[in-house]
Amino acid sequence: MVTMPPPISNSDLAAALQEFEAVVGKDWVFSSAEDRELYNDTYTPFAVEPSLQMVVSAAVAPASVEQVQQVVRIANKYKIPLYTFSTGRNLGYGGSSPTLSGCVVVDLKRMDSVLEVNEDQGYLVVEPGVNFIELYRHFEERGYPFMVACPEPGWGSPIGNALDHGVSFVMGDNFASVRGLEVVLPSGEVLRTGMGALPTGRLWHAFPYGFGPYVNGLFSQSNFGIVTKMSFSLARKPEIQATFSVSSSKSDDLYPLIATVQAMRDEGLLYLSSAASPLRSPMAPPGQPAPAHVQRAKALLSRRDGGSPKEWDELSRDSGVALSVVTGNVRGPSRIVEATLEYAREQFAKIAGAEFRVDSVQRFPLNIDDIPPDQRPQFGIPSLWPFASLAMGDTRRGMYFFSPVCAATAEDLFAIRQTIREVVLDHADESMRDPFLGWILANTVYPKAFISAYPIAISDDASTNKKYRELFTRLVEACGEKGWGEYRSHVAFQSEVMDQYSFNDHALRRFLESMKDAIDPNGILAPGKSGIWPKRLRETQS
Ligand SMILES: Cc1cc2nc3c(=O)[nH]c(=O)nc-3n(C[C@H](O)[C@H](O)[C@H](O)COP(=O)(O)OP(=O)(O)OC[C@H]3O[C@@H](n4cnc5c(N)ncnc54)[C@H](O)[C@@H]3O)c2cc1C
Repeated sequence: MVTMPPPISNSDLAAALQEFEAVVGKDWVFSSAEDRELYNDTYTPFAVEPSLQMVVSAAVAPASVEQVQQVVRIANKYKIPLYTFSTGRNLGYGGSSPTLSGCVVVDLKRMDSVLEVNEDQGYLVVEPGVNFIELYRHFEERGYPFMVACPEPGWGSPIGNALDHGVSFVMGDNFASVRGLEVVLPSGEVLRTGMGALPTGRLWHAFPYGFGPYVNGLFSQSNFGIVTKMSFSLARKPEIQATFSVSSSKSDDLYPLIATVQAMRDEGLLYLSSAASPLRSPMAPPGQPAPAHVQRAKALLSRRDGGSPKEWDELSRDSGVALSVVTGNVRGPSRIVEATLEYAREQFAKIAGAEFRVDSVQRFPLNIDDIPPDQRPQFGIPSLWPFASLAMGDTRRGMYFFSPVCAATAEDLFAIRQTIREVVLDHADESMRDPFLGWILANTVYPKAFISAYPIAISDDASTNKKYRELFTRLVEACGEKGWGEYRSHVAFQSEVMDQYSFNDHALRRFLESMKDAIDPNGILAPGKSGIWPKRLRETQS
């Protein structure tokens, strides 16, 4: 048995498990060592340090809202901490592992019904256990004209992904498409948000706000409730979906390139955009020596100033590798897409030397075999392609992400990369530096901000993992000081990420803690999630 956080005894846990069994059935409470192991994070940053891992004491899998309510009431009786997930695929951010060892995991996989697909109004209502792959099948088998807003690996669930502010290449910010929620509160009571609070709830999925404070967001990245239903706006399959890119061999061109693509976003012409610097992302083909330009790029990136624009321009000219690139994504009726591409071409022609290219034009209905697996998520087709490459090399033990947000401007992108470089040069061993010095794609799935997710590979060596964790902390602090917070974090670091959000003596966290104490006096739901600890654990854990 796992040692429970005080004051809970193992006999309290045993009594609670018996009561859980009476509610959900003996087969749906899991407490053997073998079963518990399945709920631990396979991508843990403490891979070879088992004593530091967050482990679960048991799992319970309710099949209905009523069963979730009863599980919560029993947990209150024995003060057993619960940790909920929908499909538990949040790898890189904690998987199905809790923020506190000893939690009983509430596994919602049995609540897996697609409750409604409204073709006229373009919305979807699901239970938490519905995953993206099943949803795709559901749409395709019934001929619904909608795309699935899946993340890059097409696993996971609409509800779990949206609740952690997940992103897709179909909708961008997946939480932004959320309409109504049904939530079991820490008391066991059921709440419906927005128009769902009217007795008929007729417009629950049509209008997100209802009347009074908008509370949907309070249940995302929070420990204020267990979400049992959620509705989403859907993206209709367009006639055409196209992607263009604009590249330049000049470093300073990133400023007008980003400004132009963002202006098109503001005009509502593009649904996604991104920025990258391929030459500053030096990668040698696997197993081969790095070409000369890659070695030169690495040398510039390893310098404290990161290389001057002039040096980068020269390297780009010499190597023929683009230095500044933006991409834009457009979809809709073919006449609109063609006109938008033409307009984009005209806008970018104002930047001397920038090369505009249409990279892909796909006409629906798609033939899935024509779409390479790594591009399928862009068309709402779930694919597990990232795991083919993850099974190899440095990341075979998995990874976790450093995921800061900066403004969608070249100034901010250069500035955050410089801060990251300085932290890494000052505090990381040489062998650890490459992934942070190189540039990674900056996605504007959020209209005004870039998010980047730096993968940190987990090693077989405990001291390397420890050094990476220390580096992670330094990066979070250095970025936090300059206003670049994390948009999402592995469960192991959520308190330190929240520490950065400290305006006015941590007014935000104090507000959230006051709410936590008021609605969850026994502190049973996901203690420590997003750094929000209940009163009884605040002193010892935060
Ligand atoms: C290589 C790689 C690439 C990735 N790319 C992306 C990407 O492109 N976009 C992206 O968004 N993510 C990405 N991820 C992260 C992750 O795989 C997905 O976000 C995935 O959808 C999350 O898993 P899930 O849906 O099963 O959520 P879950 O694991 O079920 O839950 C996620 C979080 O929400 C909470 N939660 C879940 N359900 C409930 C509920 N019903 N009530 C209350 N709280 C709940 C959980 O406590 C947890 O903190 C990537 C991961 C890897 C390893």
